[in-house]
Amino acid sequence: MSLDNSWFSEACDPCGSAFSLKVVKKLHEETSAFQKIEIYETATFGNFMVIDGFTMVTDRDNFLYHEMMSHPALYTHPKPDNVLVIGGGDCGTLKEVLKHPEVKKAQQVEIDERVTRLAEIYFPDLCSSNNDPRAELHFVDGIKWVQDAAPGSYDVIIVDSTDPVGPAEGLFNEAFYRNCHKALGEHGILVQQSESPLYHAKLIHEMRAAMQKSGFSDVLTYDFPQPIYPSGWWSGTMARKTGQLNTFRENDVKAKPFKTKYYSLAKHRAALEEELPLLQE
Ligand code: SAM
Repeated sequence: MSLDNSWFSEACDPCGSAFSLKVVKKLHEETSAFQKIEIYETATFGNFMVIDGFTMVTDRDNFLYHEMMSHPALYTHPKPDNVLVIGGGDCGTLKEVLKHPEVKKAQQVEIDERVTRLAEIYFPDLCSSNNDPRAELHFVDGIKWVQDAAPGSYDVIIVDSTDPVGPAEGLFNEAFYRNCHKALGEHGILVQQSESPLYHAKLIHEMRAAMQKSGFSDVLTYDFPQPIYPSGWWSGTMARKTGQLNTFRENDVKAKPFKTKYYSLAKHRAALEEELPLLQE
């Protein structure tokens, strides 16, 4: 079946595949100082944001990514007081972070203020915690922010960025990870979205090696479904400054004071039991 122009498609040429969503109408389009941002209303996925032609977030499936980018790291840290989110302009990760009562301060450092301003209009649910007194929104480059951060100032750093091209390129290398290592406290945890285990295994290997070279003592890549991203199978990679990633606050997960739609005790345990088979070559 060929698709007419009522469909948005993101083709991944090297993957030999494409993902499409049926759209009802385009709600907004602009070119910010950093990137082209489009917002669509879709037939079955609610509102949908696209940056530079790449699928970013929909109302329907964002919970998978946002829960898995925040809860595994926050429940691994013994006392996550200070959290930094780099990127994450749609504010969905920030919202999940702020569900943790232990968090005293959550800073989001997004390079492009327009992403957040548009999310406030078109994804109000994701932005519903932006006025939490513990939240701080900054609109500057996350690479520089981490470089300038006081040593030991964060417990958890979450890198919720676009793919490693354009402004996000410098978020995937050893120099950046060294700065994260320095900015983290003793039990500090870094977690970063690490693309598709099916299509981007080389990138995941390189990220893991760079994190290890930067001084992190343990690295763990875990997977989760994400229908709108290439292959529908996505991953996060966690790195711990000291100690291992094989234990977490299981009792606190059992007693968590908020509901999750995907993250669970069983899913967190499963992530620790077996390293992704595709990465074991
Ligand atoms: N979940 C999405 C994905 O994996 O495709 C990412 C969503 S979030 C909208 C990504 C954000 O990272 C974008 O808004 C982009 O502006 C931001 N970003 C890219 N490079 C950045 C940098 N160097 N510092 C801070 N934010 C950055």
